[in-house]
Amino acid sequence: MTRPSTVRIREVGPRDGFQNEPEHISTDHKVELIDALGRAGFTRIEVASFVRPDVIPQLADGVEVLRRIDVPDDVRLMVLVPNSKGLDNALAVRETFHDAAIFVSASETHNGKNVNRTVAETMADNDVMATRIRGEGLGCAAVIATSFGCPYEGRVPLTRVLDLAERFAEAGATEVGFGDTTGMANPGYAGEFFAAALDRLPGVEVTAHFHNTRGQGLANAYAALEVGCSSFESSFGELGGCPVPAGSTGNIATEDLVGMFHEMGVGTGLDLPAVIDAARRAQTVLGRTLTSHSLVAGQIDWHLQSV
Ligand code: ZN
Repeated sequence: MTRPSTVRIREVGPRDGFQNEPEHISTDHKVELIDALGRAGFTRIEVASFVRPDVIPQLADGVEVLRRIDVPDDVRLMVLVPNSKGLDNALAVRETFHDAAIFVSASETHNGKNVNRTVAETMADNDVMATRIRGEGLGCAAVIATSFGCPYEGRVPLTRVLDLAERFAEAGATEVGFGDTTGMANPGYAGEFFAAALDRLPGVEVTAHFHNTRGQGLANAYAALEVGCSSFESSFGELGGCPVPAGSTGNIATEDLVGMFHEMGVGTGLDLPAVIDAARRAQTVLGRTLTSHSLVAGQIDWHLQSV
């Protein structure tokens, strides 16, 4: 049994979540929600993205958010940088965050549609960016989208994904996250995948980023946990995460993931009621009902008298 006794969870709602929600979220509300997450015990939060504001207007106030949030000192803040220009902009405010994430899609077609470049071109730029990020004394995380399947190309070979991960590690990334961008993983493959990834990437933080598009997000997280994965990403309130096709869910909800781990006796360091409270606040900010299971049903209360 290789199940870890504790795991690390990065909250990605402020970036992956807000980016994909249709409502405009004010800077004040973003700051309020991130501050609430910081007090819920997270030590890793993805806060902003340095993409062009005309491409993703939802995150155009990223620098102001970074400057205004007030979270405990042990919280590592991460920003996403899509290219060298984005990294230039991020490094102009480098004192406001700790980790920078660079990314590629494992599928050639998805990468082309996402960033309008080939995988080879993207990786060449990523090599340069990783060196710059490490040279600034920042943490460098890499993200590989469509790791478990591509909506255009179908299956993506495991060896192709792990080759990219190894190249990121050689370039200086200390963490590689594997994203199930459109929810194509299943628990059988997730277990096989993370066993192979952990074996291939010793000394690298191997992170699971599952989407619940087809209802298998938590099952996939469980499968990854069982083969030794101890680093996860999720989004409070089940916000965001590429909800394609329209109407489907994206990211797995942090409160559901935390609830599952705690009930299994796996520590997260998080205050689950505080996470649920943050999701409830997001619901108020967005002005509509969010549907994560723990938000609807609440935390299990084992002190209830049976009837
Ligand atoms: Zn996501």
